[in-house]
Amino acid sequence: MIIAGKKIESNDKVIVRNPYDNSVVGEVSRASESDVKKAVAAAKAGLVKLSHQTAYDRYKTLMKLAGILSQRSDQFATTIASEMGKTIREARAEVSRAVETVSWSAEEAKRLYGSTVPMDAAPTGRDKVGFYMRVPVGIVAAISPFNFPLNLSLHKIAPAYAAGNAFILKPAESTSMTGEMLGQAFVDAGAVPEAVNVLTGSGSKIGLKLVTDPDIRLITFTGSRDVGEWITRNAGLKKVVMELGSNSAVVICEDAKPETMVKRVALGGYSQAGQVCISVQRVYVHERHFATFTGLLREQAMALKTGSQLDESTDVGPVITHNDILRIKSWIDEAVSHGARFICGGDVTGNVMTPVVIANAQETEKVVQDELFGPVLVVNSFRDDDQAISMVNNSRYGLQAGVYTNDLNRAWRYAKGLEAGGVLINEIPNFRVDLMPYGGVKESGIGREGPRFAIEEMTEIKLVVFHIN
Ligand code: NAD
Repeated sequence: MIIAGKKIESNDKVIVRNPYDNSVVGEVSRASESDVKKAVAAAKAGLVKLSHQTAYDRYKTLMKLAGILSQRSDQFATTIASEMGKTIREARAEVSRAVETVSWSAEEAKRLYGSTVPMDAAPTGRDKVGFYMRVPVGIVAAISPFNFPLNLSLHKIAPAYAAGNAFILKPAESTSMTGEMLGQAFVDAGAVPEAVNVLTGSGSKIGLKLVTDPDIRLITFTGSRDVGEWITRNAGLKKVVMELGSNSAVVICEDAKPETMVKRVALGGYSQAGQVCISVQRVYVHERHFATFTGLLREQAMALKTGSQLDESTDVGPVITHNDILRIKSWIDEAVSHGARFICGGDVTGNVMTPVVIANAQETEKVVQDELFGPVLVVNSFRDDDQAISMVNNSRYGLQAGVYTNDLNRAWRYAKGLEAGGVLINEIPNFRVDLMPYGGVKESGIGREGPRFAIEEMTEIKLVVFHIN
């Protein structure tokens, strides 16, 4: 754990394990409620120091951080893969994206624009001159998930710092080591030490203390729907940004050619063993292509190599815990017992599951309605576009959706009709570049990430009015 930029050790340890073979990756200290108090006190002091820095100072620190992450990319990638379970190739890609996220955030430090306000356009506005500027919200608590421990933590703390906020990062317990390494990299980049705090350990142990602290002015959370709802209920009068779960869908329309996108759909379902918030989970295929598509998808799924995530040739590594394996299996069994067709996969070795395809699951099944977060694709057919739109929208979630069509009018109809934070035409919902506005509607979240958009959430508008005559 890191408080006021310094590494702090306690006797209470979290042992971080590799989800593939349960071997020990390392250990970190488990934060207590009194550490929350210390981190908040440090962050308060950090805020004062940060207020004496210029936007250019913060830009330089973040650019230096980007350089440090690049230099340490092998170390970060190995740690991410070892503790999270994504393949080493996926972990390297995460580190590259993280460098971009920090660089975009650094640039945004230079773009904290305000505006003049035409005060005299109001009947009582004579002799008034007004303008507003953006000021930091204050202390930001950033609570991040296990599945992108570096890049999704940075989507919070890099824009927070760019805007002049002090932060307290609470990484997921299973990926604590990446969180601590990230805090250290911030300190090494020359950040104001007191503004850098990383509380490793269990969310349930320090969660209430952290989210109810009145000095924390914004909680930016990425994680599951239920924890997000609990935080929102307990946060009190402060801002919350919620990046929650999904059961993302892709639609293969009548005019599309299944053979051109089936490989991409498989990638969307099985990368990171399906543990991506915008993983393809539901595939809606026009009835004309249904048999061809499911046959091709089966071939793709069966061709993927499962195994240790640290092996360069592995395509699909482990799921984070064995309980998740049991949960995923029970959802599949339930759907099949109600008439879904089991097509392939589902062999389990330890925490690794071979990629699953199931078809014709009822729309009420958990595999359709809830977030699966495992290597499973559920393929159903539709007759016409109205039916496909209503099937995609028949969900409490709405993060991103993909549509394959070459018909411009049809594409526009889906773009307008789908309830999602992002609609991708001729692309799977997994696609994300780190500068774009990203977030969900309905129970997928509140607010947007992407440095430019996160900074809007992490600043307040301050109005200044002069009476001049
Ligand atoms: P999780 O909700 O179990 O945990 C997320 C974080 O919350 C962790 O740091 C955890 O320690 C902390 N936490 C748990 N209980 C807490 C409490 N009571 N108070 C404060 N903090 C608490 O989620 P996870 O399993 O780490 O991640 C998977 C979930 O994250 C999936 O639902 C996935 O869709 C979602 N996710 C969403 C996005 C997005 O951008 N929308 C991105 C990635 C992951």
